[in-house]
Amino acid sequence: MTPLLPDNHPMLARTMPVFDFSPSDAKQRAAALVDALVEAMHHHRGIGLAANQIGIEARAFAIQISSGESLVMFNPLVTWMSTDTAKLTEGCLSFTGLELSITRPRDIQIAYDDEEGVRRVLDLTGIDARCALHECDHLDGVVFTSKVSKLRLAMARKKMQKKA
Ligand SMILES: [Zn+2]
Repeated sequence: MTPLLPDNHPMLARTMPVFDFSPSDAKQRAAALVDALVEAMHHHRGIGLAANQIGIEARAFAIQISSGESLVMFNPLVTWMSTDTAKLTEGCLSFTGLELSITRPRDIQIAYDDEEGVRRVLDLTGIDARCALHECDHLDGVVFTSKVSKLRLAMARKKMQKKA
């Protein structure tokens, strides 16, 4: 099992490089990455996991959408966001127990390469859209703690310690 990197690991703050499907072994590496991401996401009981969270330098993440299906998106790009937003509590596998209220668009359209390197487009809404946006942030080196004020973060950490 691929372990999660600690929340202060520099890899979580780095922009992940594009996954290149042109080398002859690319599909083999893509398939291995799909296995590693989906396995680790299920093992840690998350609904999303980005490659850099498990120390793999690649622009790819896994999400489990609300239909129950697990998807891995390579080189994702959000191509549309609704102006309609929602504020909901989010967690992150890299920050055990921490819950933060974050405002994000309610609906998105996302383009990505599947594990065969075929470009696909998907409309996501609600928790699925939120999860994909959270994982896209990871691939740009952005963690969810940077989306709230220092005061709100301190309060959330206090609340988490009380629960523990
Ligand atoms: Zn996360």
